[in-house]
Amino acid sequence: RAVARGGACTEVFEANLRERAVALLDMETKLRQAVLKGREFEVHYQPIIALDTGHLSGFEALVRMRRADGTLVLPNEFIRITEETGLIVHIGRWVLREACRQMRAWQMKFPEYPPLQMSVNLAGRQFVQPNLMQQIEQVLDETGLNTDSLKLEVTETVIMEHVEEAAAVLVKLRDKGIKLLMDDFGTGYSSLSYLHRFPVNTLKIDASFIRRMDESRREANIVQTIVTLAHTLNMDIIAEGVETAAHLSHLRELDVEYAQGFYFSPPVDKIAAEALISDWPRW
Ligand code: C2E
Ligand code: MG
Ligand code: MG
Ligand code: MG
Repeated sequence: RAVARGGACTEVFEANLRERAVALLDMETKLRQAVLKGREFEVHYQPIIALDTGHLSGFEALVRMRRADGTLVLPNEFIRITEETGLIVHIGRWVLREACRQMRAWQMKFPEYPPLQMSVNLAGRQFVQPNLMQQIEQVLDETGLNTDSLKLEVTETVIMEHVEEAAAVLVKLRDKGIKLLMDDFGTGYSSLSYLHRFPVNTLKIDASFIRRMDESRREANIVQTIVTLAHTLNMDIIAEGVETAAHLSHLRELDVEYAQGFYFSPPVDKIAAEALISDWPRW
């Protein structure tokens, strides 16, 4: 009987797998077509705030997919499969170009504004491309965006999965004057002993730590420790997932440099982002 039940289980399991495979294939086909047409993707922008002045320091570019019915698909539904299939390389290059072009346009439109920064996420696949530097240089060239205005975000996990290559790529990017952020810091496996080897300018503390910060002294101490570590290594901090006034005042007390989160604004489309720029208090 056990065997029979096991057999039934296997059948259900296989049916689920088949269903999942079909769904994935379907998603992949849609993504491929979207990449080819280049129209179904959109970049949204979330403001990053300098905590000492409250000024807008820049934006993080976050990709979305627009379904034919107009609804928006968030990256957690499609990024992983684009990484597995390699499509992320094409999407990522498009996002980089679009975000740089947009930032250049805003800088021209608001010439009296202190120069804003654009932060772009790089997937592992993109990060290890041999021609990454040429791609970035080409995009900066084409769009006219100043090197100083571009920041690249690479997750802690991607860096730790390719320690040797990552160190080399990061040095090249640094020499080119491009600022590097380590994203989702604290969610990867222990990187503390490696951290000083990577020329990153900024650590982005993952939202999960910020969320738990108010829960206990212990959680607050973890954030404090990350901040101290970063400052010792001459890195700045961006706190991700800042949702409440309490988070904000806590982070200010810890001398955290930058914050990003729903408390200030969710990621918004380019039109709403432009309105944020023109309305943001500047003095
Ligand atoms: P990430 O780079 O860590 O981006 C931050 C995520 O946190 C974004 O999710 C943002 O919408 C969300 N977020 C911002 N503020 C808050 C808040 O106060 N509370 C909460 N709960 N969440 C907040 P999103 O846009 O869904 O992106 C998810 C992830 O997808 C990103 O995490 C990044 O890893 C990846 N991703 C997004 N765009 C790109 C891209 O263009 N290229 C690559 N390679 N990955 C991307
Ligand atoms: Mg990011
Ligand atoms: Mg992050
Ligand atoms: Mg994340």
